Amino acid sequence: MKKNIFISILLIVIFASCKTLIARDMILTPAEKSSFREVSKYADIVTFIHDLDNSSSLLTVETIGHSVEGRNVYALKFSTTTFGSDKSKIRVLIHAQQHGNEQSGKEGALLIARELLKPENRVIFDHIDLAIVPQVNPDGSEKNIRRNGNNVDLNRNHLIMTEPEVLALHKLFDKYLFEVTMDVHEYFPYSKEWERLGYRKNSDILLGFNTHPLIPESIREYQLKKCWPYLSSQLESKGVSNSIYSPGGPPEIDYVRFSTFDINDGRQSFGIQNTFSFIQEGLNGEDGYVENLAHRAYFQSQGIYFLLKYVSEHYIEIKSTVETLRRTQSLTESIIPLRMEHMPDGSKFNMPVYSYKTGKDSTLVVNDFRPKVVPTLTIQRPSGYLFPKSDLKLIDWIIRQGYEITPFSVKNPIMEELYIKSIDSIDFERDIIAAANVEEKEIQKSSINIDDYIYVSTKQLKGHLLIIGVEPQSELGIATYPQFSYLMKAESIYPVIRIREKQ
Ligand SMILES: [Zn+2]
Repeated sequence: MKKNIFISILLIVIFASCKTLIARDMILTPAEKSSFREVSKYADIVTFIHDLDNSSSLLTVETIGHSVEGRNVYALKFSTTTFGSDKSKIRVLIHAQQHGNEQSGKEGALLIARELLKPENRVIFDHIDLAIVPQVNPDGSEKNIRRNGNNVDLNRNHLIMTEPEVLALHKLFDKYLFEVTMDVHEYFPYSKEWERLGYRKNSDILLGFNTHPLIPESIREYQLKKCWPYLSSQLESKGVSNSIYSPGGPPEIDYVRFSTFDINDGRQSFGIQNTFSFIQEGLNGEDGYVENLAHRAYFQSQGIYFLLKYVSEHYIEIKSTVETLRRTQSLTESIIPLRMEHMPDGSKFNMPVYSYKTGKDSTLVVNDFRPKVVPTLTIQRPSGYLFPKSDLKLIDWIIRQGYEITPFSVKNPIMEELYIKSIDSIDFERDIIAAANVEEKEIQKSSINIDDYIYVSTKQLKGHLLIIGVEPQSELGIATYPQFSYLMKAESIYPVIRIREKQ
Protein backbone atom coordinates (compact mmCIF):
# COMPACT_ATOMS: atom_id res chain seq x y z
CA MET A 1 0.00 0.00 0.00
CA LYS A 2 2.71 2.34 1.05
CA LYS A 3 4.63 1.47 -2.10
CA ASN A 4 1.57 2.24 -4.24
CA ILE A 5 1.15 5.63 -2.65
CA PHE A 6 4.82 6.33 -3.23
CA ILE A 7 4.54 5.37 -6.92
CA SER A 8 1.41 7.47 -7.30
CA ILE A 9 3.15 10.48 -5.79
CA LEU A 10 6.17 9.87 -7.99
CA LEU A 11 3.97 9.71 -11.07
CA ILE A 12 2.19 12.89 -10.07
CA VAL A 13 5.52 14.66 -9.57
CA ILE A 14 6.85 13.43 -12.92
CA PHE A 15 3.64 14.37 -14.65
CA ALA A 16 3.59 17.78 -13.02
CA SER A 17 7.16 18.56 -13.99
CA CYS A 18 6.57 17.31 -17.56
CA LYS A 19 3.55 19.53 -17.69
CA THR A 20 5.67 22.46 -16.59
CA LEU A 21 8.27 21.68 -19.23
CA ILE A 22 5.70 21.29 -21.97
CA ALA A 23 3.89 24.40 -20.83
CA ARG A 24 7.07 26.43 -20.79
CA ASP A 25 8.05 25.28 -24.26
CA MET A 26 4.68 26.37 -25.49
CA ILE A 27 4.84 29.83 -23.96
CA LEU A 28 5.40 32.04 -26.98
CA THR A 29 6.41 35.67 -26.87
CA PRO A 30 3.67 37.97 -28.18
CA ALA A 31 5.75 38.64 -31.32
CA GLU A 32 6.21 34.91 -31.90
CA LYS A 33 2.46 34.42 -31.62
CA SER A 34 2.00 36.85 -34.50
CA SER A 35 4.78 35.09 -36.45
CA PHE A 36 6.76 38.32 -35.94
CA ARG A 37 4.32 40.32 -38.02
CA GLU A 38 3.85 42.55 -34.98
CA VAL A 39 6.06 43.65 -32.14
CA SER A 40 5.17 42.57 -28.61
CA LYS A 41 2.75 45.00 -27.01
CA TYR A 42 2.90 45.95 -23.36
CA ALA A 43 -0.33 44.22 -22.25
CA ASP A 44 0.72 40.96 -23.92
CA ILE A 45 4.23 41.20 -22.46
CA VAL A 46 2.71 41.43 -18.97
CA THR A 47 0.82 38.17 -19.61
CA PHE A 48 3.87 36.50 -21.16
CA ILE A 49 6.27 37.24 -18.33
CA HIS A 50 3.77 36.18 -15.68
CA ASP A 51 3.16 32.92 -17.57
CA LEU A 52 6.93 32.36 -17.56
CA ASP A 53 7.05 33.19 -13.86
CA ASN A 54 4.35 30.62 -13.12
CA SER A 55 6.17 27.95 -15.13
CA SER A 56 9.47 28.01 -13.22
CA SER A 57 10.80 28.37 -9.72
CA LEU A 58 13.96 29.89 -11.22
CA LEU A 59 12.18 33.10 -12.16
CA THR A 60 10.59 35.89 -10.15
CA VAL A 61 8.98 38.88 -11.81
CA GLU A 62 9.27 42.16 -9.98
CA THR A 63 7.98 45.65 -10.69
CA ILE A 64 10.95 47.97 -10.22
CA GLY A 65 9.20 51.23 -11.06
CA HIS A 66 6.67 52.96 -13.25
CA SER A 67 6.89 54.83 -16.52
CA VAL A 68 5.70 58.41 -16.99
CA GLU A 69 2.38 57.11 -18.33
CA GLY A 70 1.98 54.67 -15.45
CA ARG A 71 3.10 51.39 -17.03
CA ASN A 72 5.13 48.99 -14.93
CA VAL A 73 8.84 48.58 -15.53
CA TYR A 74 9.55 44.91 -14.92
CA ALA A 75 12.65 43.01 -13.91
CA LEU A 76 12.81 39.25 -14.49
CA LYS A 77 15.03 37.87 -11.76
CA PHE A 78 16.62 34.47 -12.32
CA SER A 79 18.18 32.70 -9.37
CA THR A 80 18.44 29.17 -8.02
CA THR A 81 18.23 30.68 -4.52
CA THR A 82 16.95 34.00 -3.21
CA PHE A 83 18.19 36.60 -5.68
CA GLY A 84 21.38 38.28 -4.48
CA SER A 85 21.66 36.18 -1.32
CA ASP A 86 24.48 33.88 -2.47
CA LYS A 87 27.50 36.17 -2.33
CA SER A 88 29.68 33.73 -4.25
CA LYS A 89 27.57 34.24 -7.37
CA ILE A 90 28.11 36.99 -9.90
CA ARG A 91 25.23 39.37 -10.57
CA VAL A 92 24.37 40.27 -14.17
CA LEU A 93 21.89 42.90 -15.36
CA ILE A 94 20.58 42.94 -18.95
CA HIS A 95 18.36 45.89 -19.85
CA ALA A 96 16.77 46.57 -23.22
CA GLN A 97 14.69 49.14 -25.05
CA GLN A 98 15.60 52.39 -23.42
CA HIS A 99 14.81 53.64 -26.91
CA GLY A 100 11.21 52.74 -27.66
CA ASN A 101 11.71 52.47 -31.42
CA GLU A 102 14.46 49.84 -31.05
CA GLN A 103 12.13 46.89 -30.84
CA SER A 104 14.45 43.96 -31.45
CA GLY A 105 16.26 44.50 -28.12
CA LYS A 106 13.05 43.90 -26.23
CA GLU A 107 12.10 40.94 -28.44
CA GLY A 108 15.54 39.38 -27.99
CA ALA A 109 15.33 39.84 -24.22
CA LEU A 110 11.90 38.16 -24.09
CA LEU A 111 13.10 35.26 -26.26
CA ILE A 112 16.18 34.62 -24.16
CA ALA A 113 14.15 34.87 -20.93
CA ARG A 114 12.13 31.87 -22.08
CA GLU A 115 15.14 29.96 -23.43
CA LEU A 116 17.09 30.37 -20.20
CA LEU A 117 14.43 28.42 -18.33
CA LYS A 118 15.21 25.29 -20.35
CA PRO A 119 17.01 22.56 -18.38
CA GLU A 120 20.11 22.68 -20.61
CA ASN A 121 20.69 26.30 -19.58
CA ARG A 122 20.29 25.66 -15.87
CA VAL A 123 24.09 25.40 -15.52
CA ILE A 124 24.41 29.15 -16.18
CA PHE A 125 22.65 29.84 -12.90
CA ASP A 126 25.11 27.80 -10.87
CA HIS A 127 27.22 30.95 -10.87
CA ILE A 128 24.95 33.80 -11.98
CA ASP A 129 22.03 35.70 -10.53
CA LEU A 130 20.52 37.40 -13.55
CA ALA A 131 18.07 40.28 -13.87
CA ILE A 132 16.55 41.10 -17.25
CA VAL A 133 14.65 44.35 -17.74
CA PRO A 134 13.21 43.72 -21.21
CA GLN A 135 11.61 47.11 -21.58
CA VAL A 136 13.02 50.15 -19.80
CA ASN A 137 10.82 52.48 -21.87
CA PRO A 138 7.37 50.87 -22.27
CA ASP A 139 5.71 54.20 -23.17
CA GLY A 140 8.07 54.82 -26.08
CA SER A 141 7.71 51.21 -27.17
CA GLU A 142 3.93 51.37 -27.45
CA LYS A 143 4.24 54.36 -29.82
CA ASN A 144 7.43 53.09 -31.45
CA ILE A 145 9.23 56.34 -30.61
CA ARG A 146 12.73 56.80 -29.21
CA ARG A 147 11.90 58.91 -26.17
CA ASN A 148 9.77 58.36 -23.08
CA GLY A 149 6.43 59.91 -22.07
CA ASN A 150 8.18 63.17 -21.12
CA ASN A 151 9.86 63.34 -24.54
CA VAL A 152 13.24 62.65 -22.93
CA ASP A 153 15.98 60.44 -24.37
CA LEU A 154 16.46 58.00 -21.49
CA ASN A 155 19.91 57.01 -22.66
CA ARG A 156 21.16 60.57 -22.08
CA ASN A 157 19.53 60.83 -18.68
CA HIS A 158 21.71 58.63 -16.47
CA LEU A 159 23.61 61.57 -14.96
CA ILE A 160 20.84 64.05 -14.24
CA MET A 161 18.34 61.23 -13.65
CA THR A 162 15.13 63.17 -14.03
CA GLU A 163 13.10 60.29 -15.50
CA PRO A 164 11.31 57.60 -13.47
CA GLU A 165 12.37 54.77 -15.80
CA VAL A 166 16.08 55.62 -15.40
CA LEU A 167 15.67 56.02 -11.65
CA ALA A 168 14.04 52.59 -11.46
CA LEU A 169 16.94 50.98 -13.30
CA HIS A 170 19.55 52.59 -11.06
CA LYS A 171 17.61 51.74 -7.92
CA LEU A 172 17.79 48.11 -9.02
CA PHE A 173 21.51 48.44 -9.74
CA ASP A 174 22.21 50.09 -6.39
CA LYS A 175 20.34 47.33 -4.55
CA TYR A 176 22.38 44.47 -5.98
CA LEU A 177 25.53 46.19 -7.32
CA PHE A 178 25.68 44.06 -10.45
CA GLU A 179 29.20 43.21 -11.61
CA VAL A 180 28.23 42.85 -15.29
CA THR A 181 25.62 44.80 -17.25
CA MET A 182 24.50 44.94 -20.86
CA ASP A 183 22.42 47.71 -22.42
CA VAL A 184 20.62 46.47 -25.55
CA HIS A 185 19.87 48.82 -28.46
CA GLU A 186 19.58 49.02 -32.24
CA TYR A 187 21.67 51.12 -34.63
CA PHE A 188 20.45 52.93 -37.74
CA PRO A 189 22.89 52.71 -40.64
CA TYR A 190 20.74 54.39 -43.28
CA SER A 191 22.00 57.99 -43.33
CA LYS A 192 22.25 60.05 -46.52
CA GLU A 193 25.99 60.58 -46.01
CA TRP A 194 26.63 56.85 -45.97
CA GLU A 195 24.39 56.29 -48.95
CA ARG A 196 26.36 58.88 -50.93
CA LEU A 197 29.50 56.94 -50.10
CA GLY A 198 27.82 53.82 -51.46
CA TYR A 199 27.89 51.77 -48.27
CA ARG A 200 26.15 51.16 -45.01
CA LYS A 201 27.14 49.25 -41.90
CA ASN A 202 25.54 45.85 -41.89
CA SER A 203 26.70 43.80 -38.92
CA ASP A 204 23.81 41.95 -37.29
CA ILE A 205 25.27 42.83 -33.91
CA LEU A 206 27.68 45.54 -32.76
CA LEU A 207 29.23 45.26 -29.33
CA GLY A 208 30.57 48.19 -27.34
CA PHE A 209 32.67 48.31 -24.20
CA ASN A 210 33.65 50.84 -21.55
CA THR A 211 35.63 53.79 -22.83
CA HIS A 212 35.82 56.46 -20.11
CA PRO A 213 39.45 56.61 -18.90
CA LEU A 214 38.37 56.51 -15.23
CA ILE A 215 36.94 53.06 -15.82
CA PRO A 216 40.04 51.03 -14.98
CA GLU A 217 42.14 49.66 -17.79
CA SER A 218 41.83 46.18 -16.28
CA ILE A 219 38.11 46.28 -17.13
CA ARG A 220 38.47 47.92 -20.54
CA GLU A 221 41.31 45.68 -21.70
CA TYR A 222 39.58 42.54 -20.44
CA GLN A 223 36.42 43.40 -22.36
CA LEU A 224 38.35 44.03 -25.54
CA LYS A 225 40.96 41.27 -25.37
CA LYS A 226 39.14 38.47 -23.55
CA CYS A 227 35.37 38.90 -23.88
CA TRP A 228 35.27 40.29 -27.39
CA PRO A 229 37.19 37.50 -29.25
CA TYR A 230 34.99 34.88 -27.55
CA LEU A 231 31.70 36.69 -28.19
CA SER A 232 32.64 37.50 -31.77
CA SER A 233 33.59 33.94 -32.69
CA GLN A 234 30.59 32.39 -30.93
CA LEU A 235 28.21 34.76 -32.70
CA GLU A 236 29.94 34.05 -35.99
CA SER A 237 29.45 30.30 -35.43
CA LYS A 238 25.71 30.93 -35.15
CA GLY A 239 25.67 32.94 -38.35
CA VAL A 240 25.43 36.29 -36.58
CA SER A 241 27.75 38.80 -38.26
CA ASN A 242 29.30 41.20 -35.79
CA SER A 243 31.76 43.99 -35.20
CA ILE A 244 32.81 46.47 -32.53
CA TYR A 245 30.43 49.36 -31.93
CA SER A 246 32.13 52.30 -33.61
CA PRO A 247 30.09 55.42 -34.32
CA GLY A 248 31.22 58.41 -36.37
CA GLY A 249 32.12 58.49 -40.01
CA PRO A 250 31.49 57.86 -42.79
CA PRO A 251 35.25 57.43 -43.23
CA GLU A 252 36.93 60.23 -45.21
CA ILE A 253 34.21 62.63 -43.98
CA ASP A 254 34.61 62.24 -40.24
CA TYR A 255 36.59 60.13 -37.81
CA VAL A 256 35.37 56.84 -36.38
CA ARG A 257 35.71 56.10 -32.66
CA PHE A 258 35.00 53.43 -30.07
CA SER A 259 31.76 55.18 -29.14
CA THR A 260 31.29 58.00 -26.68
CA PHE A 261 33.05 58.37 -23.34
CA ASP A 262 30.11 60.22 -21.86
CA ILE A 263 28.79 58.75 -18.63
CA ASN A 264 25.13 59.68 -19.08
CA ASP A 265 24.13 56.44 -20.78
CA GLY A 266 23.18 52.98 -19.63
CA ARG A 267 26.60 51.53 -20.25
CA GLN A 268 29.07 53.99 -18.76
CA SER A 269 26.93 55.17 -15.83
CA PHE A 270 27.34 51.63 -14.53
CA GLY A 271 30.86 51.30 -15.92
CA ILE A 272 32.05 54.32 -13.93
CA GLN A 273 31.07 52.33 -10.84
CA ASN A 274 33.64 49.72 -11.84
CA THR A 275 31.27 47.41 -13.64
CA PHE A 276 31.94 45.28 -16.70
CA SER A 277 29.27 47.03 -18.72
CA PHE A 278 28.53 46.42 -22.38
CA ILE A 279 26.31 47.87 -25.07
CA GLN A 280 24.82 45.71 -27.77
CA GLU A 281 23.45 47.29 -30.92
CA GLY A 282 21.36 45.21 -33.31
CA LEU A 283 20.82 46.24 -36.92
CA ASN A 284 17.57 48.11 -37.39
CA GLY A 285 15.29 47.10 -40.26
CA GLU A 286 15.32 49.48 -43.21
CA ASP A 287 11.72 49.62 -44.27
CA GLY A 288 9.65 49.96 -41.15
CA TYR A 289 10.40 48.68 -37.74
CA VAL A 290 8.99 45.17 -38.02
CA GLU A 291 10.98 44.21 -41.08
CA ASN A 292 12.81 40.95 -40.50
CA LEU A 293 12.01 41.16 -36.82
CA ALA A 294 12.35 37.42 -36.25
CA HIS A 295 15.99 37.46 -37.32
CA ARG A 296 16.84 40.63 -35.48
CA ALA A 297 15.28 39.37 -32.25
CA TYR A 298 17.20 36.10 -32.58
CA PHE A 299 20.52 37.91 -33.15
CA GLN A 300 19.96 40.06 -30.07
CA SER A 301 19.11 37.00 -27.99
CA GLN A 302 22.31 35.29 -29.11
CA GLY A 303 24.46 38.25 -28.06
CA ILE A 304 22.87 38.17 -24.61
CA TYR A 305 23.19 34.39 -24.39
CA PHE A 306 26.91 34.26 -25.19
CA LEU A 307 27.68 37.05 -22.76
CA LEU A 308 25.96 35.04 -20.03
CA LYS A 309 27.83 31.93 -21.07
CA TYR A 310 31.18 33.71 -20.97
CA VAL A 311 30.47 35.29 -17.60
CA SER A 312 29.30 32.00 -16.05
CA GLU A 313 32.54 30.34 -17.17
CA HIS A 314 34.76 33.20 -15.95
CA TYR A 315 32.75 34.48 -13.02
CA ILE A 316 35.53 34.16 -10.47
CA GLU A 317 38.03 36.40 -12.27
CA ILE A 318 35.41 38.98 -13.27
CA LYS A 319 33.88 39.12 -9.82
CA SER A 320 37.20 39.41 -8.00
CA THR A 321 38.40 42.16 -10.38
CA VAL A 322 35.25 44.18 -9.70
CA GLU A 323 35.42 43.65 -5.96
CA THR A 324 39.05 44.76 -5.77
CA LEU A 325 38.49 47.81 -7.97
CA ARG A 326 35.41 48.92 -6.09
CA ARG A 327 37.23 48.60 -2.77
CA THR A 328 40.36 50.45 -3.82
CA GLN A 329 39.30 53.02 -6.43
CA SER A 330 39.43 56.03 -4.10
CA LEU A 331 42.94 55.02 -3.02
CA THR A 332 44.42 54.45 -6.46
CA GLU A 333 42.99 57.09 -8.79
CA SER A 334 44.41 60.51 -7.99
CA ILE A 335 44.16 62.24 -11.38
CA ILE A 336 40.66 62.93 -12.59
CA PRO A 337 40.15 63.83 -16.27
CA LEU A 338 37.48 66.48 -16.87
CA ARG A 339 37.94 66.95 -20.61
CA MET A 340 39.07 64.40 -23.16
CA GLU A 341 39.54 63.82 -26.84
CA HIS A 342 39.32 60.82 -29.13
CA MET A 343 42.78 60.15 -30.53
CA PRO A 344 44.30 57.71 -33.03
CA ASP A 345 46.62 54.97 -31.81
CA GLY A 346 48.11 54.19 -35.21
CA SER A 347 45.72 51.33 -35.91
CA LYS A 348 43.22 51.14 -38.75
CA PHE A 349 39.73 49.75 -38.42
CA ASN A 350 38.22 47.23 -40.80
CA MET A 351 34.53 48.03 -40.86
CA PRO A 352 32.19 45.41 -42.31
CA VAL A 353 29.78 47.13 -44.69
CA TYR A 354 27.22 46.44 -47.36
CA SER A 355 27.88 47.93 -50.78
CA TYR A 356 24.86 49.49 -52.47
CA LYS A 357 26.68 49.24 -55.81
CA THR A 358 27.45 45.54 -55.81
CA GLY A 359 24.72 44.43 -53.43
CA LYS A 360 27.38 42.46 -51.56
CA ASP A 361 29.16 42.52 -48.21
CA SER A 362 32.45 44.33 -48.20
CA THR A 363 35.00 45.87 -45.83
CA LEU A 364 35.90 49.54 -45.51
CA VAL A 365 39.32 50.39 -44.17
CA VAL A 366 38.96 53.32 -41.79
CA ASN A 367 42.17 55.34 -41.75
CA ASP A 368 41.00 58.10 -39.41
CA PHE A 369 40.23 55.76 -36.55
CA ARG A 370 40.45 57.16 -33.00
CA PRO A 371 40.05 54.44 -30.41
CA LYS A 372 42.03 56.16 -27.66
CA VAL A 373 40.56 58.62 -25.17
CA VAL A 374 43.18 61.13 -24.04
CA PRO A 375 42.58 63.60 -21.19
CA THR A 376 43.09 67.26 -22.08
CA LEU A 377 42.16 68.76 -18.70
CA THR A 378 42.64 67.05 -15.35
CA ILE A 379 42.44 67.86 -11.64
CA GLN A 380 43.78 66.22 -8.51
CA ARG A 381 41.12 64.08 -6.91
CA PRO A 382 39.17 66.14 -4.32
CA SER A 383 38.07 64.63 -0.98
CA GLY A 384 34.51 65.82 -1.36
CA TYR A 385 32.14 68.70 -1.92
CA LEU A 386 29.95 70.98 0.17
CA PHE A 387 26.55 71.57 -1.43
CA PRO A 388 24.46 74.54 -0.26
CA LYS A 389 21.20 73.32 1.29
CA SER A 390 19.50 76.35 -0.24
CA ASP A 391 19.99 74.98 -3.79
CA LEU A 392 17.11 72.53 -3.88
CA LYS A 393 17.83 71.42 -7.44
CA LEU A 394 21.31 70.30 -6.46
CA ILE A 395 20.11 68.63 -3.26
CA ASP A 396 17.44 66.83 -5.26
CA TRP A 397 20.10 65.60 -7.69
CA ILE A 398 22.22 64.24 -4.83
CA ILE A 399 19.23 62.31 -3.55
CA ARG A 400 18.27 60.99 -6.98
CA GLN A 401 21.81 59.79 -7.62
CA GLY A 402 21.79 58.05 -4.25
CA TYR A 403 25.06 59.56 -3.04
CA GLU A 404 26.01 58.74 0.49
CA ILE A 405 25.83 61.88 2.63
CA THR A 406 28.21 62.01 5.59
CA PRO A 407 28.95 64.51 8.36
CA PHE A 408 31.73 66.92 7.42
CA SER A 409 34.66 65.44 9.28
CA VAL A 410 37.69 66.22 7.10
CA LYS A 411 40.49 66.86 9.61
CA ASN A 412 42.60 69.48 7.86
CA PRO A 413 40.37 70.71 5.07
CA ILE A 414 41.40 72.98 2.26
CA MET A 415 38.26 74.71 1.05
CA GLU A 416 38.27 75.82 -2.55
CA GLU A 417 35.80 78.31 -3.91
CA LEU A 418 35.46 77.97 -7.67
CA TYR A 419 35.12 81.29 -9.46
CA ILE A 420 33.83 81.10 -13.04
CA LYS A 421 35.81 83.72 -14.92
CA SER A 422 34.31 83.20 -18.34
CA ILE A 423 32.45 80.69 -20.49
CA ASP A 424 33.98 79.26 -23.65
CA SER A 425 32.64 76.71 -26.04
CA ILE A 426 34.40 73.47 -26.90
CA ASP A 427 33.85 70.58 -29.29
CA PHE A 428 32.57 67.48 -27.59
CA GLU A 429 32.17 64.61 -30.05
CA ARG A 430 31.04 67.10 -32.71
CA ASP A 431 28.66 68.94 -30.39
CA ILE A 432 29.53 72.45 -29.32
CA ILE A 433 29.07 72.77 -25.58
CA ALA A 434 29.70 75.47 -22.98
CA ALA A 435 32.89 75.17 -20.95
CA ALA A 436 33.75 77.20 -17.89
CA ASN A 437 37.12 78.80 -17.17
CA VAL A 438 37.59 78.46 -13.46
CA GLU A 439 39.84 80.09 -10.88
CA GLU A 440 40.30 78.31 -7.57
CA LYS A 441 40.50 80.39 -4.40
CA GLU A 442 41.13 79.02 -0.96
CA ILE A 443 38.64 80.22 1.65
CA GLN A 444 38.64 79.96 5.42
CA LYS A 445 36.40 77.53 7.23
CA SER A 446 35.19 80.39 9.37
CA SER A 447 33.93 82.27 6.31
CA ILE A 448 31.00 79.87 5.85
CA ASN A 449 28.42 78.35 8.15
CA ILE A 450 28.95 74.62 7.76
CA ASP A 451 25.35 73.94 8.81
CA ASP A 452 24.20 75.55 5.58
CA TYR A 453 25.86 72.77 3.58
CA ILE A 454 25.60 69.06 2.89
CA TYR A 455 28.86 67.15 2.59
CA VAL A 456 29.32 64.43 -0.02
CA SER A 457 32.61 62.55 0.08
CA THR A 458 34.29 61.18 -3.04
CA LYS A 459 35.30 58.07 -1.08
CA GLN A 460 32.33 56.04 -2.22
CA LEU A 461 31.45 53.81 -5.14
CA LYS A 462 29.87 56.74 -6.93
CA GLY A 463 32.83 59.02 -6.16
CA HIS A 464 34.00 59.28 -9.76
CA LEU A 465 30.47 59.94 -10.94
CA LEU A 466 30.21 62.70 -8.35
CA ILE A 467 33.42 64.45 -9.45
CA ILE A 468 32.61 64.22 -13.16
CA GLY A 469 29.07 65.39 -12.49
CA VAL A 470 29.75 68.33 -10.26
CA GLU A 471 33.04 69.90 -11.39
CA PRO A 472 32.15 73.07 -13.33
CA GLN A 473 34.92 72.48 -15.89
CA SER A 474 33.78 68.95 -16.62
CA GLU A 475 32.59 68.59 -20.21
CA LEU A 476 30.29 65.80 -19.01
CA GLY A 477 29.04 67.63 -15.92
CA ILE A 478 25.50 68.55 -14.90
CA ALA A 479 26.15 72.23 -15.66
CA THR A 480 26.17 71.35 -19.38
CA TYR A 481 22.48 70.33 -19.15
CA PRO A 482 19.70 72.92 -19.55
CA GLN A 483 18.27 71.97 -16.13
CA PHE A 484 21.52 73.01 -14.46
CA SER A 485 22.76 75.72 -16.83
CA TYR A 486 22.07 78.31 -14.09
CA LEU A 487 25.21 76.95 -12.40
CA MET A 488 27.40 78.11 -15.25
CA LYS A 489 27.38 81.89 -15.22
CA ALA A 490 30.39 83.98 -16.16
CA GLU A 491 31.87 86.12 -13.38
CA SER A 492 30.08 84.23 -10.66
CA ILE A 493 30.98 81.94 -7.78
CA TYR A 494 30.08 78.29 -8.30
CA PRO A 495 27.77 77.36 -5.41
CA VAL A 496 29.51 74.05 -4.62
CA ILE A 497 32.69 74.20 -2.52
CA ARG A 498 35.47 71.76 -3.34
CA ILE A 499 37.19 70.11 -0.38
CA ARG A 500 40.70 68.76 -0.24
CA GLU A 501 42.59 67.33 2.68
CA LYS A 502 45.96 68.73 3.75
CA GLN A 503 48.45 65.88 3.57
ZN1 LIG B 1 19.37 53.07 -28.74
